[in-house]
Amino acid sequence: MSYVFTPAERPSVEIEGRAERFPVHRIYCVGRNYAAHAREMGKDPDREPPFFFTKPADAIVRNHGVIPYPPRTKNFHHEIELVVAIGMAGRDIPSAGAFDHVFGYAVGIDLTRRDLQLEARDKGRPWDTGKAFDRSAVITAIRPASACGHIQSGKIWLTVNGEARQEGDIRELIWSIPELIAELSTLFELQPGDLIYTGTPAGVGPLQRGDRVEGGVEGLPALDTTIA
Ligand code: MN
Repeated sequence: MSYVFTPAERPSVEIEGRAERFPVHRIYCVGRNYAAHAREMGKDPDREPPFFFTKPADAIVRNHGVIPYPPRTKNFHHEIELVVAIGMAGRDIPSAGAFDHVFGYAVGIDLTRRDLQLEARDKGRPWDTGKAFDRSAVITAIRPASACGHIQSGKIWLTVNGEARQEGDIRELIWSIPELIAELSTLFELQPGDLIYTGTPAGVGPLQRGDRVEGGVEGLPALDTTIA
């Protein structure tokens, strides 16, 4: 195969304890998967169930890095999330067998240009400019499920300059990980290399240039990043 220019390198994520990397196929994200966050966004979690949107695979940003403050926003938000890494293809996956499709878990931030997202939401337009921009998907190394088991509970948290901003527990997910995989796989055929950002707990808020952001999920590698 020859190309008119050199294709970009495949986006990939470090795997803890392995020399091989996890090649990213697609990035799926879940909206409003914690009741308290749905309420802070002005929505009723009982009437509006979770839904999906995507980011491009090359929006991945590796852990311990520096992220330039993005253009065209005055309200750049953090959303700490548990990330599921898919290791096996499937469609119409029953929730009872969904964990078989999980390669491992990581911690991520779904970075959001909130002003652009809310404008799009209120006008019934797509969310891409608010959600799917360059360098909008921070992620730690993936911990294989063979090392940490499957995650169904545990604290999730985020601090900015050492100050607590977001805190919740994975058991508060409106849709559990097996339910998310089952539902998503009726809409798209899941592939190895897919990442699922599973939604954020309450406490989302703005980031400023120079902010030091740290976060984590109990039992997974810690995340840190700096806004430049
Ligand atoms: Mn999110």
